[in-house]
Amino acid sequence: MIQVSGYGALNATSSIAPIEFERRELGEKDILIDILYCGVCHSDIHMARSEWGPSVYPIVPGHEIVGKISQIGSGVTQFKVGEMAGVGVFIDSCRECPSCKKGQEQYCDEGFTPTYNGYYRDGVTPTFGGYSTQYVVDEAFTLHIPFTKELERVAPLLCAGITTYSPLKYAGVGKGHKVAVLGLGGLGHMGVKFAVSMGAEVTMLSTSPSKENDAKMLGAHHFALSTDKDQMKALRGQFDFILNTVAASHDLNKFLGLLKVEGKMLLVGIPPEAAQVYAATLISKRRSIIGSMIGGIAETQEMLDYCAAHNILSDVEVIDMKDVNEAYERVIKSDVKYRFVIDMKSLRD
Ligand code: NAP
Ligand code: ZN
Ligand code: ZN
Repeated sequence: MIQVSGYGALNATSSIAPIEFERRELGEKDILIDILYCGVCHSDIHMARSEWGPSVYPIVPGHEIVGKISQIGSGVTQFKVGEMAGVGVFIDSCRECPSCKKGQEQYCDEGFTPTYNGYYRDGVTPTFGGYSTQYVVDEAFTLHIPFTKELERVAPLLCAGITTYSPLKYAGVGKGHKVAVLGLGGLGHMGVKFAVSMGAEVTMLSTSPSKENDAKMLGAHHFALSTDKDQMKALRGQFDFILNTVAASHDLNKFLGLLKVEGKMLLVGIPPEAAQVYAATLISKRRSIIGSMIGGIAETQEMLDYCAAHNILSDVEVIDMKDVNEAYERVIKSDVKYRFVIDMKSLRD
């Protein structure tokens, strides 16, 4: 077994603290990644605190992983030692169901194997995430990193990037569309960048007046305060799409009303509590809500290549591993610009 140092939580109320654990020895198809950077996603917080139901403890969060390959199994053909590699939200799936065959492993009939807070396909061995020094992963679930610099700004693409790219692509967002992005955090700031690069006219809808300048710097054409009744009223019926990235409970109806006839809310934020939707808000304008979860391996690679071609990177604040609990508190207060990324050197030293 490979001894690994990490940071994790022992239960839903404990802080994220040092933890030692083991990863499997490399199998034929496995890659050993020395982790350089790992992003802090709001999902890490939801799961560390069992906000979506009981998590598997101890939990080592982290699913926005970029690192350098230090070893490969004898049967690995797509990666070489010394190359950069990425790991996102899942590391395996059944590989046989219709979704897996379509390259949409995120919708696997048997459920994907999560990068952490779950079990390998044997159903008993827990998976531990990227708040750690090394990761072992099958090459079929490993991403090529088409960047050589600013790798700390690449890590968040593995979740925040693909989670916003996939629904915008699926919806066919492009020139002539008016898109609103709801919530300017990790996902939201990537959503703005992608929607702008796809040619849409983008409005940032935020609860934070202080983020107006940043929204415009990220490329948004307009900014509106979602807490301001008059501003919301003026936007009724205006948007083709709303990308909803909000992590906390909020009134969906208020935002559905901003959609045009046949407008679509692309829902990616996952508040712990269920939302109430008025049927009339949807049916009066044939509006719909489309849920979307991350993206498959092939689409994640496509997104990374798209980012390299369009020079799209995440805006990050790099932190030391020991400062992760403070980062969690700031994320919860919507005080993140716009993704915390852990420099794993701080864990090795
Ligand atoms: P984040 O960085 O915390 O961003 C969420 C943003 O939502 C905040 O910055 C804030 O932006 C806004 N917000 C917070 N509380 C709000 C409230 N009460 N009402 C309205 N807006 C509020 O989180 P994230 O990492 O981007 O993740 C967002 C959500 O997506 C989380 O629930 C996460 O678990 C989920 N997620 C889903 C997928 C998927 O596959 N579907 C993948 C990754 C993450 P403003 O200050 O601009 O209002
Ligand atoms: Zn995530
Ligand atoms: Zn499957």
